[in-house]
This record gives sequence, structure tokens and C-alpha cells, in this order.
Amino acid sequence: MTAATVTTAPGPDQGPGAPSRPDFARWEGQLADPGVCVHPVWLTGCIDAIDLATGELARVYDTAAEPGGVLHVVCGNRRESVCPACSAVYKRDARQLVRAGLLGGKGVPESVTAHPCVFATFTAPSFGPVHSRRVRGRAVLPCRPRRDHKVRVCPHGRDISCPVRHGQDDPRLGRALCPDCYDYQAAVLFNLHVGDLWRRFTTYLPRHLARLAGLTQRQLRSLVAVRFVKVAEYQARGVVHFHAVIRLDAPGADYQRPPARFTAALLTDAIGQAAAAVAWAPGPAEDYPACPGLVLRFGAQVDCRIIRDGLVDGLPGTGDKLNVGAVGNYIAKYATKTLTAPGVPDRRLRSAADLMGLRCSRHYRQMIETAWKLGGGRTGPADTRLCKWAHMLGYGGHFLTKSRRYSTTFGILRRARAEHRKAQRHPDGERDPWGRPLDDAVVLILKTWTYAGTDHTTTHGAELALASADMARGR
Ligand SMILES: [Zn+2]
Ligand SMILES: [Zn+2]
Ligand SMILES: [Zn+2]
Repeated sequence: MTAATVTTAPGPDQGPGAPSRPDFARWEGQLADPGVCVHPVWLTGCIDAIDLATGELARVYDTAAEPGGVLHVVCGNRRESVCPACSAVYKRDARQLVRAGLLGGKGVPESVTAHPCVFATFTAPSFGPVHSRRVRGRAVLPCRPRRDHKVRVCPHGRDISCPVRHGQDDPRLGRALCPDCYDYQAAVLFNLHVGDLWRRFTTYLPRHLARLAGLTQRQLRSLVAVRFVKVAEYQARGVVHFHAVIRLDAPGADYQRPPARFTAALLTDAIGQAAAAVAWAPGPAEDYPACPGLVLRFGAQVDCRIIRDGLVDGLPGTGDKLNVGAVGNYIAKYATKTLTAPGVPDRRLRSAADLMGLRCSRHYRQMIETAWKLGGGRTGPADTRLCKWAHMLGYGGHFLTKSRRYSTTFGILRRARAEHRKAQRHPDGERDPWGRPLDDAVVLILKTWTYAGTDHTTTHGAELALASADMARGR
């Protein structure tokens, strides 16, 4: 959960000694409409204003005047499954942030559309045959066709051919054709370490760029800087893959174009080489005796689509040129999504007993069990992160990450929203309790908050919140 911060300054109509006004602190953008946020945080406390010249103190707000004596602050959770209202706000910000890096705006010049830029997808390698939807152009192909009308048989004697042309919502998609052939351990460990692979990739990319451009790394750093925003998505088989917008700028904070020799084609080549070079072998401290000599890598090919003048060559699964707005929507969508398969637990497992009650598909259950066992349960010496993230199939990383200066930041967007609301409420500027324009050199604002709990007091309240969030999304 994001820690709630409340910054409040006094508003108008607050003469000295004026009665507390319950809506005082609601003027701030952070504060919850308790009918919308599903898990509001409760605070008790007050806000005082002190005239620095006279020492006079005026209480301008007290939670005692609120219903129930507490103030509700939004939970700020990014997961759609946890809080639809707060995740919708985060999703909007993510979309703006991605768009600004592609089209300009929010302090980024529009000339950024001319920079070398690609939309790249980093997948995992195969861990065994699974049901998949294969598309060529507009045609859906058979999943795993038989060869010469003969079934394909795996070493366990199972038929691993599948002539079905799977629909988009086919529940079989991603499931292993033979659970014994499928390397669940490697799949779970890939999820656990995919963030390490990405970190190495970001280190290797400038090296490969430098080599392709015939420069030393130091020379490269003086000419070009790599910016990116990336998002994690679960494939149907329960393995994480990354989508990233990767852009080249000139060094510095002003989003200038790098020299013309750095083209999108050069960037694409460097991404392919760097991704192919990345490998992760768990060190002795995190050795997995069950998988000796395990080396994790990205899948063979990185899908790179060049973004130019606000158009992208087409997202995976479609061949059409798309407006970059679609990229923003795509990334924002996955920034708030987690693993949402029926029956997958939405919180950490506490004991092996939780494994017994799993109601998800056999494939996901096997991944969760594998993660739990590799992690050594709660008692073993092995990597306990695997137990912690078993319900996430091993992945414990962030869903959206970005480099410095990709575009704006979430913090700037949040502050701008709060300022905007404040300006709407006080079109003539804020006033202190003595009726003067607010000036922090004249009046000290003292805020005292105490954490008083979380969530709605009744399930009725939570239901109301979910219903109103549904309505808001409908609109
Ligand atoms: Zn919330
Ligand atoms: Zn199939
Ligand atoms: Zn098999």
C-alpha cells in the first residue's frame, strides 16, 4: 500500500475561533471519497495555523467533527483487483506518463516524436509444449498440428499434438500439453529472476550500442542516453514477459535528439544483441539443487516495433500501424493488472495447508506448488522469496518501472492534480484563518495525524464502494 500523505493548508471562511469545518481537509486531492476507495485509511488529528508574528493559534480542522471522528484517506493501491478507484487514477497517470515520452507534453517537447524509439516485447523461452493461439495475418492456425496425420507422442506416452484453432478466451490456452514434460521449476525461477535479466539488459544495451556505432562506452555516454518505461504482463502460461518503450535521447535533462547516426534500426539491432547476451545463473547463495546448472535467458527473439512520428508498426497480434495512444493504453492496462486467473490466490500463502485449498487450473496450481517447494516452505534454508511470491507464480517485481527522464514522474502528476483541485476550490487564492492571502512566511501550518485503522467499518461500506467504482468505470 502506498503511504498516504496529507498536506493541507487552510482555506477561506475560517475566521479565528471559527467552528471546525468537516470538509476542510477534503480540499486536498489525496483525501478519500469513502464511497469510492475500497480500502480507505483512517486518520485522526487536526490542523492548526499559527500566526508567526503574534503567536496566535487557530485550529482550522479537527477530525473530531468528521462522521465517526476519523478522516478517510484513499489507499492509493495500484492493483485493479484490490481497489478499482485508486488503480483507475494510477492507470490514468501511467497512460499520461507513457504518452508524454512518445508525443511530448508534461514538460517534454513535441520534438521527442523524432527520436529513435521502439516498442519491444521480451518473452520467456519455452519450458515445454503448451496450448497456444497461433495467428498468421487474420487466420488462426491449429495449435500443434499432427505431422503426416500422426499424433506427436512425448516421452511420457502422451499425445502432445492439438489440432484446435484456439479462440482468444479458450481456457486451455497456456496449459501444458504434458505436465511431466513441462519444466515448472525453470518457469518459476524465470519469473523470480526476470527482473535480474532486465537489469542486466539495461547494463548491456549501451555496450552493444557503442560497439555497433564504433565508439567506446565513454564516447557513447557523451552522445546518447537510453530512456525506457517497461511493464510486466503474465502470459497465459503464467510466465512474465515485458513490454518496453525504449528511446534514445541526447544526454542531459532537456530531451534533445541524439546525433543522426543513432537510428531506430541501430537501436533495434542493439536491443536484439543485448537481450541475447543476457543470462542469469543463480549464485551459490541461491543455488537450487533441483535444477543444477540452471541458466536463465530471455526467449530467442525480441519483438521490436519502430515508433516514428506517433505511429507504431503494430502491436503483437495485429499487423496494422497504430497510433502511439494504443501503446500508452496497453502499458497503462498492464501497470494495474496482476495475475487474474480464476482461483489464483490474491494474497500470500501462509502454510502448506493453503496449497490444499487452491481452486485454480492444474497448470497454475503446479506453478504455485513448485514455487512453494523450491522456496523450502517456511522452514527450509532455500530462497524464501519463492514462498513469498508463490501466489504470483514466483514474480515479485514491480509491474511498471521506468528510467530517469523517460518523461514526467508519478509524483509530479499527483502534485499537479492536487494543485489543480486546490485552484478550482480557491479561484482567488487560498486564505489563512485571519482572512489574508496564505503566506508560509507569515503563518505556520501544523498538521498532526495519527493512524487509526483501515478499511470500511462494515462490509456494507465496502460493497457500496465497489458498486460505485463499477458505476464510475461504466461512465
Ligand atoms: Zn483505494
Ligand atoms: Zn491446443
Ligand atoms: Zn511428457
